[in-house]
Amino acid sequence: MWDRIVLLPVALIIGMVMGSFYNVLIYRLPRKISIIDPKRSFCPICGHQLAWKDNIPLISYLILKGRCRYCAAAISVRYPIVEMLTASLFTLAIYLTNNMIDLFSLWIFFSAAIVASAIDFEYMLIPDSAVIVTGIGGLLWSWHHGHITLSLITAAFAFGIFLLIYLLSKGGMGFGDVEYFGVLALFLTPFSAVMSVLIASVVALAYALPQVIVHKAGRKTRVPFGPFLAIGTTIAMLLNFHLFY
Ligand SMILES: [Zn+2]
Repeated sequence: MWDRIVLLPVALIIGMVMGSFYNVLIYRLPRKISIIDPKRSFCPICGHQLAWKDNIPLISYLILKGRCRYCAAAISVRYPIVEMLTASLFTLAIYLTNNMIDLFSLWIFFSAAIVASAIDFEYMLIPDSAVIVTGIGGLLWSWHHGHITLSLITAAFAFGIFLLIYLLSKGGMGFGDVEYFGVLALFLTPFSAVMSVLIASVVALAYALPQVIVHKAGRKTRVPFGPFLAIGTTIAMLLNFHLFY
């Protein structure tokens, strides 16, 4: 058993720092900019290299009132949101488990989900690296929970069924969704995988419906499915977790 009061500030700080790094990934991965070069972050508008004091997670955004110190361009609200979301989910994970391996696989899962979701919302694509990282987390999780064989079979079926939908829907679903759900299913068992898709579909529909109404039905509204698959998997995994383990 671990001391949650001690771990709480640790998870918050690690979450903030990692969230700040995920902002770099979210900006650079789809633009094919190297993650390590340039080493220092820069303003995407004026290109000015950022000093350490411009780069403190959340705090810099608040102090600078959401504007670049050098050109005063508005900084996307995505930056503080990603930092707070990462810190919140990292902290949540501490309350969901009291085991280091579980905590690590949950952090991996949440991290990849945040990066994949932000990129999917903007570019309608899920980077391969997020798929690979999620797969590693899923293997770790199901191995540690003693259902790795069942999860591998679940993943194979999840991939197969999504592949079929992908081929039949002719562009309605991206191949990234097929790959992503294939690895998400490594966290799941057959029952929770079905629950995950159901929850994902309901939440995606709730998200898309107002847009369809505003744009008046007929105009093709594309909805990124990755973020909703991640939400569905989180809920299904936790339900499964509390029911059966
Ligand atoms: Zn600037």
